[in-house]
Amino acid sequence: MKALRLTEWRHEPELVEVAEPVAGSGEAVVRVAAAGACHSDLHLMRDFAPGQLPWDPPFTLGHENAGYVDSLGPGVSRFKVGQPVAVYGPWGCGHCSRCLAGLETYCEDQAAAPVVGGGGGLGRDGGMAELMLVPAADRHLVSLPEELDPVLAAPLTDAGLTSYHAIRRSWPKLVPGASALVIGVGGLGHLALQILEATTACEVIAVDSRPEALRLALECGAETALAPGEDAVSSVMEVTKGRGVDAVFDFVGSDATLALAAAAARQCGDLTIVGLAGGSLSYSFFTVPYELSVQSTYWGSRPELVEVLELAARDLLRPEVTTFPLEEALDAYRGLENGKLSGRAVVLPAG
Ligand code: NAD
Ligand code: ZN
Ligand code: ZN
Repeated sequence: MKALRLTEWRHEPELVEVAEPVAGSGEAVVRVAAAGACHSDLHLMRDFAPGQLPWDPPFTLGHENAGYVDSLGPGVSRFKVGQPVAVYGPWGCGHCSRCLAGLETYCEDQAAAPVVGGGGGLGRDGGMAELMLVPAADRHLVSLPEELDPVLAAPLTDAGLTSYHAIRRSWPKLVPGASALVIGVGGLGHLALQILEATTACEVIAVDSRPEALRLALECGAETALAPGEDAVSSVMEVTKGRGVDAVFDFVGSDATLALAAAAARQCGDLTIVGLAGGSLSYSFFTVPYELSVQSTYWGSRPELVEVLELAARDLLRPEVTTFPLEEALDAYRGLENGKLSGRAVVLPAG
């Protein structure tokens, strides 16, 4: 079968022929209906050198996947061949306290996990291929609600889940009368806006450097959509009557966006760094609002994925997608890199 593989660091991925996977004990093979193209894959292609991550190429890209169970290995009890499923992407050991809580992103027994600090499409073969092997099927497959198209479900497993996890931990601060700021309205950010609208009653402001993304922001529930730059902070202060926002979600994470995030935040607020641009924020008694909590978040938990799929099944969360056949997957990444896409690019390995 054909697969889009990262063959070495700092290299374009290649569409190559690979052997079809076979499900062993406890494993499943999924016929991939859709695999999302995440900006993190661009970071993988550009930013890392050998030894910087716990794993190295080659592996098949695609860590946002949904499809149909193709075959099951011995001992898998909860799924049937042909059933529509989403793949929970971060693969931990399954028995440490974090994994037992469903938070396999923060597995504390990495030596016993299928891949250290990764998952399908991150060190192990992912979904940009007709078939994908899922090592612990009973934990890493989630059955799809009947009404949910796998093409829409795929982006929910990362762009949706990561945004939901970040927002959920700020829920106590997002009471009616509160406000939130989303920086970066791409694959993750446009879903973050919908999640804020569906799960909180706060006023939402969005910032993006692309006019097309600002249009999408308003469609996804932002009340105010702003270009970044000198006036952005004063505009946020005007909208929030001088208080600043209770929670900022930074889906870029550069020096400039972190500075904007801190300047726009309210005292006692949350600043959550999701984007991997690698910027720094000066944090001292004098440089940020009092009692501002700053955190980074990585992906999300299995129970949260079930909640995200539920939101989508109720039509409260709907990714804007542009689809590409596997042969054109590289064009999806190029479009993402050049800011030519709206929402999420999704690759359809089955055509
Ligand atoms: P994307 O390219 O689809 O969206 C990024 C958006 O940010 C674009 O709309 C772009 O125009 C906008 N933008 C870029 N620079 C900006 C700036 N200086 N000011 C304002 N807007 C700006 O990317 P995505 O797939 O949504 O991913 C967003 C980030 O989150 C990436 O860095 C990605 O690697 C990261 N990510 C993190 C996690 C995690 O678990 N922490 C998970 C998935 C993705
Ligand atoms: Zn991702
Ligand atoms: Zn674990």
